Amino acid sequence: MGLKVAKFGGSSVADAIQLMKIKEIIEADDEMRYVVVSAPGKRFSGDTKITDLLYLCKTHMDHNVPYDQLLQVIEDRYVAAAVSLGIDVDYEREFDIIKAAMADGTATADYLASRGEYLNAILVAKLLGYDFVDAFSMIRFNKKGKLDDAETDRLMSQELAKHENAVIPGFYGQDIDGRVKTFSRGGSDITGAVVARAVKADMYENWTDVSGFLVADPRIVPEAKPMANVSYQELRELSYMGASVLHDEAIYPVKSADIPINIRNTNRPEDPGTIISTEGDRSGNRPITGIAGSKNFTSINISKSMMSTEVGFIRRMTAILEDFGVCVEHVPSGVDTVSVIVSNREVEGKLDEILEEMERVLKPDTLEINDNISVIATVGEGMAYKPGTAARLFTALAEAEINIKMIDQGSSEINIIVGVENKDFEKAVKAIYDAFEF
Ligand code: ASP
Repeated sequence: MGLKVAKFGGSSVADAIQLMKIKEIIEADDEMRYVVVSAPGKRFSGDTKITDLLYLCKTHMDHNVPYDQLLQVIEDRYVAAAVSLGIDVDYEREFDIIKAAMADGTATADYLASRGEYLNAILVAKLLGYDFVDAFSMIRFNKKGKLDDAETDRLMSQELAKHENAVIPGFYGQDIDGRVKTFSRGGSDITGAVVARAVKADMYENWTDVSGFLVADPRIVPEAKPMANVSYQELRELSYMGASVLHDEAIYPVKSADIPINIRNTNRPEDPGTIISTEGDRSGNRPITGIAGSKNFTSINISKSMMSTEVGFIRRMTAILEDFGVCVEHVPSGVDTVSVIVSNREVEGKLDEILEEMERVLKPDTLEINDNISVIATVGEGMAYKPGTAARLFTALAEAEINIKMIDQGSSEINIIVGVENKDFEKAVKAIYDAFEF
């Protein structure tokens, strides 16, 4: 029999109705022995996540604003879920502990935020009849505040081996001073990934409120279908996909252990979702896996005669960007021309200074900028073996009368990046989508 780790996100555990759904999902699958939960998220649009309420409590506490009512709202949500499910959790005692830590000033923001998943995991453990195992005793951060991979894996595999079934709260662990420390927001995905690695799971199921990654943004392509498979590498190339379904840092622990991730929908458990794995789709009949893009990039275009014979030109150019703390997206180049594509956000308020410095150091013949660029990545492992993919893509863009401002292809040959003007962004994504069958 296989072994699965299932992580349920905030909307999947938002209230008693959602908790009943996850109980059904887990009970229907004997392989799902370890469960990681987020804090209760939004029950409806306009609702507030428990994690946000907890951070708000901390703000009130720091500004000497009364927080009792706010804390009561949080307690009421847990109690309401427990009562509806007919489960007995001593939330009064749990909240007394939190109140005491707030009163004596020892409650840090991380500690308070972590209570969202802690209090929820206790409830879910009782609901399922699984052991509650606290992440605090297993997940360790090093002195730089980064996840201590080796130590976490050691402690966690040791501890979880003692439990046939367990519910583990997501999002937090322990720092080197023995205090609670959280991952960045959305970090329960990381907890799920380290649990999957520690128990050597065959699959890491990540349950959320969408049926996987879509091949294109549904706001632009309403008929876009979910991807059945995607490789880790393709997913990285598709990172322009925006609103992330999965925390970036959740990839490494499972990828390194070669454990696939299955994105699933708690509200539509019959949907197979998207499987992220090392191989992706090896069927060979799919040149393109997905299209992702984003607006608002700046292209800095530099030309200088004999640039290609000037040793260190690119280094001097990128050093300027480095000095200004700017992250570079793409660097397409010609013999005597080079462009740098950066996100507008990165150069906000410092573009003039950067250009002045480039004039001074690089002495270019021309230096132009276009701050109106969209970047679109068309990605697929199949592209590397399938001649004609690029031709199809560029023909589609030409037929849609789209002016291409930049072309770049990663050395892995699994992506073609084009830059177009912001006004053409949606049209270009649609044209590329229509040119390939999904
Ligand atoms: N509850 C945390 C957040 O809202 C962590 C998570 O849900 O993954 O960011």
